[in-house]
Amino acid sequence: MRQSKYFLKTSKTVAKDDTSANARLLEQGGFIKKEMAGVYTFLPLGLRVLAKIENIIREEMDAIGGNEILMPALNSKENWTTTGRWDSMDILFKIKSEHGYEYALGPTHEETITPIALSVIQSYKDLPLAVYQLQTKFRDEARAKSGLLRGREFRMKDLYSFHASNEDLEKYYNEVADSYRTIFKRLGLDALYTYASGGTFSQFSHEFQVELESGEDTIYVNDKTSEAKNKEIFTEEDKASGVYRETMACEVGNIFNLGTKFSEAFGLTYTDQEGASKPVIMASYGIGPSRVMGVLVEKFHDDKGIIWPTAVAPFMVHLLALSGKDEAVAAAADKLYTDLTAAGVEVLYDDRADKMAGEKFADSDLIGIPFRVVISTKTLAEDSVELKPRNIVDASMVKINELINTLNNV
Ligand code: ATP
Ligand code: MG
Repeated sequence: MRQSKYFLKTSKTVAKDDTSANARLLEQGGFIKKEMAGVYTFLPLGLRVLAKIENIIREEMDAIGGNEILMPALNSKENWTTTGRWDSMDILFKIKSEHGYEYALGPTHEETITPIALSVIQSYKDLPLAVYQLQTKFRDEARAKSGLLRGREFRMKDLYSFHASNEDLEKYYNEVADSYRTIFKRLGLDALYTYASGGTFSQFSHEFQVELESGEDTIYVNDKTSEAKNKEIFTEEDKASGVYRETMACEVGNIFNLGTKFSEAFGLTYTDQEGASKPVIMASYGIGPSRVMGVLVEKFHDDKGIIWPTAVAPFMVHLLALSGKDEAVAAAADKLYTDLTAAGVEVLYDDRADKMAGEKFADSDLIGIPFRVVISTKTLAEDSVELKPRNIVDASMVKINELINTLNNV
């Protein structure tokens, strides 16, 4: 991608109302643009990161038999009345149409998926079933804050599973928990498996929490087991045990045993081997990809900007041409850009002729692409470029014809 033609503009100023690192750096770096409190546009650079996060999640959901669908964000009032959540859910966005109808904007999709499942599940032979989506969700959060960490419009991966027995549900629930461990590891995050209060159908639900000073949740970590407990379930007994360390964290994923709450509300039953009608048992599993993006920035940045983990970086190489009036440098940079791209390396190419070296370096540090490659009159004299990983202070000289090889081996 040629930066001279890219829809990207970094900025030196910050919105004053949100001082969290992710809001500040993502806006300054031209990844997102604030529309209003808790609502953001994802600009090209930000959309690339979001897509990488979501693709990792998608790959792992597919690997555990998830069927991807896309449900409507606009929900019927009727389904939400059926479960009683039209009145009981305080964060539900409600819409009145000019034509006398009322709708909800989906904050989660049990109310949509359960009636859909009704048309697919009849007998035990139709179970188990797992369906997921990657979608924009809406919640009327009392306080939207900390940039992408708590939005009113945000991205969610929501998976729903349907089972004939508690044993089957439990088996799949653990499979999903393992899948989540893989996902967060691939995303470069240490996420703690955290016991949270469970609701009606199981003793616990489980959250995946990332330790974060700017996080909203207080959790208690057992460093020996790498597991944690949420504040609400942390007992006097736990406290007395002395094995837990209190810390702040941000929830990136959440898994729930829903039991028969939704299947009973919608009459979702199946016929078992003996011909008896039984309620389907359900579970739901969420991850917030946009929140994950915010958490990654909170975790991986320095005073100059973002330091993206390779797996989600918008590009792998930031190629800076410091050509000035040296046409040979400009030509060599163009060729290098073409060669790298042909070799499958994702390159953002700062070919801007009107920018000074200092500005290009500052932008590069702010945007946080893992490898910076600089070509200038000085490096070209040695048929070389200067290569610098974003998270390392020192740069090294690499021969131009060895660059692709070098990048493949780091
Ligand atoms: P929280 O406790 O942070 O309010 P939640 O328990 O209500 O979240 P779920 O309903 O389980 O969250 O949603 C699944 C996932 O969606 C969460 O684990 C989180 O990653 C993400 N998420 C939830 N609410 C928001 C929000 N307002 N903005 C961004 N991401 C969110
Ligand atoms: Mg929660």
